[in-house]
Amino acid sequence: MSGATLRASGRASNEAASALAAAPPRPPLSIRGLRKRYGDTDVVAGIDLELRPGECFTLLGPNGAGKTTTLRCALGLTAPSAGEIRLAGLPVPERAREARMRVGIVPQQDSLDPDFTCSENLVVYGRYFGLDDATILARVPELLAFAGLEGKRDARIQQLSGGMKRRLTLARALVNRPELLILDEPTTGLDPQARHLIWERLKQLIRAGTTVLLTTHFMDEAERLADRLAILDAGRILTEGSPRDVIAKEIEPQVVEVYGDWNGRGHDGADGDAEAWAARHAAEFCRRHEVSGETAFCYVEDAAPLLAHLAAQSGLRYLHRPANLEDVFLKLTGRELRD
Ligand code: ADP
Repeated sequence: MSGATLRASGRASNEAASALAAAPPRPPLSIRGLRKRYGDTDVVAGIDLELRPGECFTLLGPNGAGKTTTLRCALGLTAPSAGEIRLAGLPVPERAREARMRVGIVPQQDSLDPDFTCSENLVVYGRYFGLDDATILARVPELLAFAGLEGKRDARIQQLSGGMKRRLTLARALVNRPELLILDEPTTGLDPQARHLIWERLKQLIRAGTTVLLTTHFMDEAERLADRLAILDAGRILTEGSPRDVIAKEIEPQVVEVYGDWNGRGHDGADGDAEAWAARHAAEFCRRHEVSGETAFCYVEDAAPLLAHLAAQSGLRYLHRPANLEDVFLKLTGRELRD
């Protein structure tokens, strides 16, 4: 695609995003004291959350943290054990069906109908919201423009790439012009080009005033998109704030990853592995450290003394970088695998 075509398509999708946006000045979602108990476990154990109109809020957490259950309760698809929920200003679960009419949902798995064309998929989906066909058909061009699928109106779903299907699913979620868009891992399984395009489209929607709530396992996605985020584990919010604030309040600013040929070559031969190296040196140079496999992660306020020490150990390789959201996530939720 030429630069001119890309710019033109960017303008068209911006206009489409503006046309699709609507943001009343009350919280699109507020949750107070939400609990959900399965058996004798509180999988959601007292969550408070209030979305601000027009922001992108991101829920992060390892598998099993309670993200999906929280979203399902918010949408009235799962009955909470306790707590108060208002979605689009309406009490849930009492008026969940009505509230969902004002919300767009992008599920983790694409659920487009393979027997229909792109346009037919939008029409069929729009009918769930009580829209008549003429109204939906009038919206189809702007939805396809937003998805960058202008030429695919009559294409069948099987003819679309994975990225195109995701974009169509995103466009489909906008058919009812939702004030709140909820996305469950929107870019899982996409290649970098397709992810970037989805991010651009989400940014356009946010700029145009749509509130976005998304879950993701990609920390870079959260850092790029989120105005605010919460990290959950075991049904509780562990920390909350803007990505920058969360990093600043939860973790040391600098990280030095030390990894290397632990069996010799140049550095002190007593350090047989990352654990042994950390036991001997970390206390002197690091405020806090973690060892994972063959790597020692050193978290420091000032990396200079450690870097000077490492520079004299020619057998060790190391990487010096600013702390990021993934460091916070691993600090708060641990490095053990979750299934
Ligand atoms: P996440 O989306 O963060 O991966 P979930 O909300 O899907 O987490 O799950 C949180 C916990 O609740 C998990 O331990 C999961 O097994 C449990 N859980 C979810 N749904 C049910 C259910 N219908 N019955 C019993 N346990 C459930």
